[in-house]
Amino acid sequence: MAKQWGERQAEEDGMTSLPIDLHAIATMKGRNIIVEPSGDTGPGVSAMLLRSGNNFGIFYSTAIANIGFQRFSIAHELGHYFLEGHIDQIPFDEGGFHSSKAGFFSTDIYEKQADSFASGLLMPSRLFLRALNQHVDGLAGVKALAGLCETSLTATAIRYAELTEAASAVIVSTGQTVDFACLSSAMKDYSDIIWLRRGDQLPRNTLTANFNAEHDRFNENELVDETDLRLWLTGTRSREVIEEVIGLGAYGKTLTIVTCMDTAADGEDEEEEDALIDSWTPRFR
Ligand SMILES: [Zn+2]
Repeated sequence: MAKQWGERQAEEDGMTSLPIDLHAIATMKGRNIIVEPSGDTGPGVSAMLLRSGNNFGIFYSTAIANIGFQRFSIAHELGHYFLEGHIDQIPFDEGGFHSSKAGFFSTDIYEKQADSFASGLLMPSRLFLRALNQHVDGLAGVKALAGLCETSLTATAIRYAELTEAASAVIVSTGQTVDFACLSSAMKDYSDIIWLRRGDQLPRNTLTANFNAEHDRFNENELVDETDLRLWLTGTRSREVIEEVIGLGAYGKTLTIVTCMDTAADGEDEEEEDALIDSWTPRFR
């Protein structure tokens, strides 16, 4: 719901092209929300929402020099401003500040909702899909979309997994541990796979596991390999996939995009095909 709310907000505020103009949204219609960078939000804090009576301000951290992440942090605070109940429920300190840790890692329900709102606001499905259809699947497409939306690679990759028609898995990891994994709906349709979850160990012998073990994760190195989906998500059927890995720089995390190369011949179609082949086979014995 929070994500749809973000999308609706972008539409109501007349956003018809990418990137979404957050400063316009913050200041239009008498909102007058001040949005300013701050070098001093505290460790791990992405942004703060200041409340003084009915006046609001957003101070976003510049500790991570990534425009996409900064914009996500601003959109997250706008989520607290717009989403029903947030202003009354989220904690404010004595100075009137609420501190946020945006970026899909918090387990707090209000923080998660604000992240979802930010995703919907910055990447409304209609605008995002239109752009998605003009790009290739996988990391190259995600990079292009991140440039267009002015969003971080991670946030864009998650949105991509939600909206792409390709059978795709997006995994963010630290060391040998999965931070989170998002599967596209075409990937979820494979009934024989086992979904990865937060806290799982990375599957051994994957390019990502080796990358995280060997490379300096704080460099934005990039690797690509062809492999079998079974290596990642087990399953009974062999499926050829492309595994693309990129270090996320200052975060010390790694983004992986696994894309099935052949989606048409899967699921029931393939079972039918197998049955058909079986039914023909005796003729040639
Ligand atoms: Zn927050």
